[in-house]
Amino acid sequence: MRRFMAIIVSVLTLVGCGVQENKTQRSFFAMDTVMNVTVYGDNSEKLVQQAGNMLDNMSVLWSVTDENSEIYAINHSGGGTVDISAETSELIRFALEMDGLTDGALDVTLYPVIKEWGFTTGEYKIPSEERLYQLLKYTGTQNVILAENSVTVAEGTEIDLGAVAKGYAGDKLYKYLTENGVTSALLDLGGNIHAIGVSPDGSPWRLGVRSPDGNGNVAVLEISDMAAVTSGGYERYFIGDDGKRYCHIIDPATGCPADSGLASATIVGRHGALCDALSTAVYVMGAEKAEALWRKIGGFDMILITDGGDMLITEGLKDVLSIADAFYGELKVIS
Ligand code: ADP
Ligand code: MG
Repeated sequence: MRRFMAIIVSVLTLVGCGVQENKTQRSFFAMDTVMNVTVYGDNSEKLVQQAGNMLDNMSVLWSVTDENSEIYAINHSGGGTVDISAETSELIRFALEMDGLTDGALDVTLYPVIKEWGFTTGEYKIPSEERLYQLLKYTGTQNVILAENSVTVAEGTEIDLGAVAKGYAGDKLYKYLTENGVTSALLDLGGNIHAIGVSPDGSPWRLGVRSPDGNGNVAVLEISDMAAVTSGGYERYFIGDDGKRYCHIIDPATGCPADSGLASATIVGRHGALCDALSTAVYVMGAEKAEALWRKIGGFDMILITDGGDMLITEGLKDVLSIADAFYGELKVIS
């Protein structure tokens, strides 16, 4: 009897598939941002729910403010060794590697500096040079000793995985969803996009690349099975008493907000964590160094919008990117 039921159910599902589209879309608040998860196909309801649980768990694990988080424990260890989960260890290891690859432009030990500028509370201020000089002593990979299941940071050193965690989370969700048969889904994790498979009509996902000045899109990107991650100075910033604009991405070399001539950096590639790490690092290092890094390590493409409104793209995007209404500058293809 049971087997008979099973056969009927599967036939119905198969027929249903062709006739009507099954879609589940839900918003979650995790990692201090709004995340939208859209999954197409059977079972999408259950899968989206589980995706939400995964985001919650990672959010708790890596929060800088939640007293139950592993990062909180590390940052309040007073120089002691803290046991951490395999996932946290993996993410910190990845971040340290990226720090090396980007010549220190990505630095997950900047938290003391980020706090000083007020980016954690919204009570912004421009720190004195002496203060920044003091705080920069606590930053840098030499202050972090990572083992398989534990980490030790120097007293005063604090870790913040905000520049890599959303990309890493996207990779985890990608793996979970595709292993469970999903061939069409879109993850928008606070601006980090993971386009899984193709859109429900079988065509690539179409993503708009926002203009840094907020007026529509400068380009449209057609991708499938790819992540696209943007870092920009236009989303979180404050205007100082000196009338200058200070953004939330910090140049680890100076302890000051990055000012490399880029308004935004979008990285496109298979791995979300890599795209996330590189979007932040490239925004810090600027176009010239970014181009050199692209030549050196490859494995990703990028769209750089300069402060002057020009666009630089790497050759891998030539056939999948089209210019949109809000673009007024010059386009250069890096090859
Ligand atoms: P967002 O998280 O705003 O989408 P990013 O991925 O670029 O953008 O991450 C920026 C966050 O990472 C900042 O809010 C800050 O917490 C932290 N951060 C700032 N500058 C750096 C840096 N040079 N390296 C690593 N983390 C940074
Ligand atoms: Mg990033």
